[in-house]
Amino acid sequence: MIGAGLGGLSAAIRLANAGCAVTIVEGGARPGGKLGTLERGGFRFDTGPTIFTLPHLLEDLFRESGECLADHLELVPCEPAFRFAFRDGVELRLGTDLRRNVAQIAALEPRDVAGFLAFLARSERIYDELMAYFFRRSFNGPRQMFTPRVARAGLTLDVIRSLDGRMRRYFRDPHLRHIMTFKSIYVGTPPTQVPAAYAAIPYLEFVYGVWFARGGRGLHAIAEELAALAVRRGVAIRYSAPVKEIAVGRDGARGVILADDEFIPADAVVSNADLVHTYRDLVHPRWRRRYTDARLARYEPSSSAFILYLGVDRVYPGLEHHNVFFPADYAGEMARIFGEKRPPADPTIYIGDFARTDPALAPPGSSALYVLAPVPHITPAFDWAREGDAYRDLLIARVRDLGLADLAERIVVEERWTPLDFAERHHNNLGSIFGLSGKWSQSTFFHPPNRSEEVRGLYFAGGSAQPGGGIPLVLLSGEITAELVLEDLLK
Ligand SMILES: Cc1cc2nc3c(=O)[nH]c(=O)nc-3n(C[C@H](O)[C@H](O)[C@H](O)COP(=O)(O)OP(=O)(O)OC[C@H]3O[C@@H](n4cnc5c(N)ncnc54)[C@H](O)[C@@H]3O)c2cc1C
Repeated sequence: MIGAGLGGLSAAIRLANAGCAVTIVEGGARPGGKLGTLERGGFRFDTGPTIFTLPHLLEDLFRESGECLADHLELVPCEPAFRFAFRDGVELRLGTDLRRNVAQIAALEPRDVAGFLAFLARSERIYDELMAYFFRRSFNGPRQMFTPRVARAGLTLDVIRSLDGRMRRYFRDPHLRHIMTFKSIYVGTPPTQVPAAYAAIPYLEFVYGVWFARGGRGLHAIAEELAALAVRRGVAIRYSAPVKEIAVGRDGARGVILADDEFIPADAVVSNADLVHTYRDLVHPRWRRRYTDARLARYEPSSSAFILYLGVDRVYPGLEHHNVFFPADYAGEMARIFGEKRPPADPTIYIGDFARTDPALAPPGSSALYVLAPVPHITPAFDWAREGDAYRDLLIARVRDLGLADLAERIVVEERWTPLDFAERHHNNLGSIFGLSGKWSQSTFFHPPNRSEEVRGLYFAGGSAQPGGGIPLVLLSGEITAELVLEDLLK
C-alpha cells in the first residue's frame, strides 16, 4: 500500500481483516495525508479537511474490525452546521434543526419553504441511490453506462440537469440557491457544470449533520485512530518511506521500490497516492500504453485552496465553528478561478473557529482560526512563490471587513499553505485538493477505474480514485478497492 491517507488506511484495514499481510509505505512522517495537523505556540490546526460528514462510515470500519469508534474518538455535532453570510447583510445559520432552518428560509422567501422540503425529499432519493449503487463500485468505462440499472438510476439522479438548473426549480431566493450550489467549487467545477446529483452534499449536511472530534487533536484524530486500528489489525506502517517506483514485470505489479532503493515485494500494490502521480512518476513509461504522460496531462485536476492558519489572542463572539462569507460577485469569482485560472480578488471565504468546539486547541481566551479561499490548481497564470505574500495581505484585509476588524493586530501565530504545499507535501497533481475535477467527462464512467487497466495487480484508493474525493468517499474508496484486490487474489 502506497500512502497512509484515509483511503489507504480504509483499504489496508479491510484487507487485513480479510487475512492479508499488509504493509503501508508512507512518504510523510505521520498518517492522514491531507488530513494533517499543525502545532504552533500552543495552537493546533487541522491542515486540510474541516467539514466531516457521515461519521457512520467510520463507525462501520471500526465495527467490521470488532471495535467501537466511540471507545477511541469523541465526535460532537457542529450545530448550527454553518453560518452563511452574504455581502448584502443576509445571514443564515443552517444545520440539522429542520424547524430552525425552515423559519430562516420563510423569513427570506416564504414560497421557498416548500422548495426546501421538495429539495430534501428529492435529495434523499439521490443520496440513497448514490450510497446503494454508485458509491459502492468502481466503473470501468462508458460501456457500463448502458444497462437498465444505470438508466433507472439516471432518472433518480437527475443526470441530465445541472445542479444549478435543479436548484433554480426549488428556490426563488438567490441566497438559498447559492447556499445549495456553491460547494461544487470544491470539486473544481462550477454548479452549472456538475450534475444535479451533487445536491446530495448540502442534503447530507442538513440531515446527517457536520461533526468534529473533541480531545485536543482536531479531525486529525480520525487519521491517528485509523492508523492505530490498522496496526492493531496487524498492518505494518512505515513512515518517511517514499516510494520512487512500482516494480512491474510481464506478470504485473511485483512490489514497490523506496527512495533508498529498498525493494518491498507484494502480490498486489494499492496506491493511495494521487492517480496522476502514481502513473506518471511511479510506473515506468514502458508499462503504460493508455496512461501516457500526454494523456495524464490532459486530466483536469480539481481546484485548490489558499489557507491561513492563524493563532489569535482573542475570541470573536459572532463566529460559529464553520463560517462561509460569500463574495459580492460570485460569477466573477467563478470566471476568475475557472476561466483566468487566477485566485479571485473577492473570494468566498471559509473561516473555521475550532477552539469554539474544543477549547484544548488554543490557549485560554484565544482562537485557532483556519481561513480558506478556493483558488485554481497550479497554472502558469499565477506564481504562488512570488505573489503569495500579496494574496495573504488581500485575504487578511477581506477578513477584517467581515467583522474581525482587529485581526491583523491580534495574530500571534501564522502559517500559510498554498497550492504549492499540496503539490509538494503529498504529490497532489498541480496542488489539486479533491483529485480529478468533477466535470462530466471525468466522472463515474469516464473516471479511471480503481483496478488498473494497464498494470495487473495495481489498484487505486483515495480521492483521485472512484467514487471521488472528500472524507466519506475516500473511506468508501478503500472499501471498493479492498474488494477488488480480494476478488483477484482469491481467483
Ligand atoms: C485544504 C483541504 C480542504 C478539504 N476540505 C474537506 C472537507 O472539508 N471535507 C471533506 O470531506 N474533504 C475535504 N478535503 C478532501 C479530503 O481531505 C481528501 O479527499 C481526503 O483526505 C483524501 O484522502 P486520500 O485517501 O486520497 O489520501 P491523501 O490524503 O491524499 O493521502 C495520500 C497519502 O499518500 C502519500 N504519498 C503520496 N505519494 C507517495 C509516494 N510516492 N510514496 C509514499 N507515500 C506517498 C502522501 O504523503 C499521503 O499521506 C479537503 C482537502 C484539502 C487539502
